[in-house]
Amino acid sequence: MRAIVVGAGIGGLAAAVSLRRAGHEVTLVEQTPRFTELGAGIQLAPNATRELRRLGLLDTVAAQSAYPSHISFRSWSDGLEICRYELGREAEDTFGAPYLQVHRADLQQALAAAVPPASVRLDTVVVGVDQDAKSACVVTGDGEVLDADLVVAADGIRSAVRQWLFGKDAAVFSHTAAFRALLPAAEVADLDLPDTGIWLGPGRHFVHYWVRRRELLNVVAVATADESAAQESWTARAEPGEQLREFEGWSPTVLDVLERAGQVFRYGIYTRTPLARWNTGRITLLGDSAHAMVPFQAQGAAQAILDAAVLGDCLADAAPTDVPEALERYVHRRLTTATGMQARSTRAGAEFHLPDGPEAEARNSRMAAHAAEHRFLPVATEWAVDPLNEPKPEPEPT
Ligand SMILES: Cc1cc2nc3c(=O)[nH]c(=O)nc-3n(C[C@H](O)[C@H](O)[C@H](O)COP(=O)(O)OP(=O)(O)OC[C@H]3O[C@@H](n4cnc5c(N)ncnc54)[C@H](O)[C@@H]3O)c2cc1C
Repeated sequence: MRAIVVGAGIGGLAAAVSLRRAGHEVTLVEQTPRFTELGAGIQLAPNATRELRRLGLLDTVAAQSAYPSHISFRSWSDGLEICRYELGREAEDTFGAPYLQVHRADLQQALAAAVPPASVRLDTVVVGVDQDAKSACVVTGDGEVLDADLVVAADGIRSAVRQWLFGKDAAVFSHTAAFRALLPAAEVADLDLPDTGIWLGPGRHFVHYWVRRRELLNVVAVATADESAAQESWTARAEPGEQLREFEGWSPTVLDVLERAGQVFRYGIYTRTPLARWNTGRITLLGDSAHAMVPFQAQGAAQAILDAAVLGDCLADAAPTDVPEALERYVHRRLTTATGMQARSTRAGAEFHLPDGPEAEARNSRMAAHAAEHRFLPVATEWAVDPLNEPKPEPEPT
């Protein structure tokens, strides 16, 4: 069977690897002239690394990653620890796969290396999709028509395919922007940073973790923002010192990191309204095109990787005539979880950003009580879910 995957982000690359492993011929179509290497980190929870293992990529990714021991939630001004959760060996033993923190370029390289170059069409923008009962196709900017039995649109939060299939619905601004930076470990060696930290304050939170075998510190400082000033871009630069003005009054440790950050980038955070379906006939959405979410549970890419794994599972050994039904099963198995994670991520942002006062104190007490009872973050209930190993429904009696 022939599949076309539109978009070579984490979702599209994972889908290409998964479909190839399911026995299909894949063409991956990407608009940029080369794989864009984003200077940013990404956290991969066990639900994502379990699938990377199934795709045969976990060892390669892990060799480039940081393997954190724990995550510490801290209070914004005094730096006091609110609670701490396990991320290391205990998490790996419990969930059967590790929690990893990786440079995006390293993850992308590992995924891209698993797709033969001959299957990749770079510098090729998709300007249309079409289908009939027997096949589907994409139209490229050069007017070329590429035929396939299946089209997977992993074209990201600004997905054009989503619009063509389901009508116009703009990305929704979250009223937050992330100041992002990567610092060499030596730059922050004198600071007493927790292994992985999330500092919570009014209208803001500050996240840091190591990547690339702990050679680099990845920093994401999230603040409320106006849409007019917040471009959704991995390369938009912050004004010099802007991040320091935004986090004025925060703990000296946070300010030290932000001051030493060098070039800081500013990413306006958007989401997508949940859809009732992602598929129609032989075409489906996958990843951010289907379910872009705020990154406050570090699950957007994980959900895209799960989409890819389940898609491959639904299409294992499928023939062209099976595609529409297989896509129905794929969406049925993925939509509720991914949509739930969108809502959960938004709720986490509201909790993180509470103003000082009784509500924030109650949140801190709740978090401390939860951490004392459970070793793992609340979202870890989702890390435990393995969509490829769920109990199968009992067959209907005949
Ligand atoms: C600040 C921040 C931190 C995050 N941290 C985490 C984290 O720690 N853990 C986690 O799991 N997730 C995290 N996420 C979410 C994660 O980055 C995304 O969910 C994930 O990258 C989405 O991948 P994707 O492949 O669906 O889309 P994208 O990465 O957007 O890829 C889409 C691709 O499609 C291509 N494309 C678009 N249109 C066309 C077209 N017409 N023709 C051809 N090609 C096209 C684009 O060029 C692009 O390469 C974070 C997000 C942000 C913003």
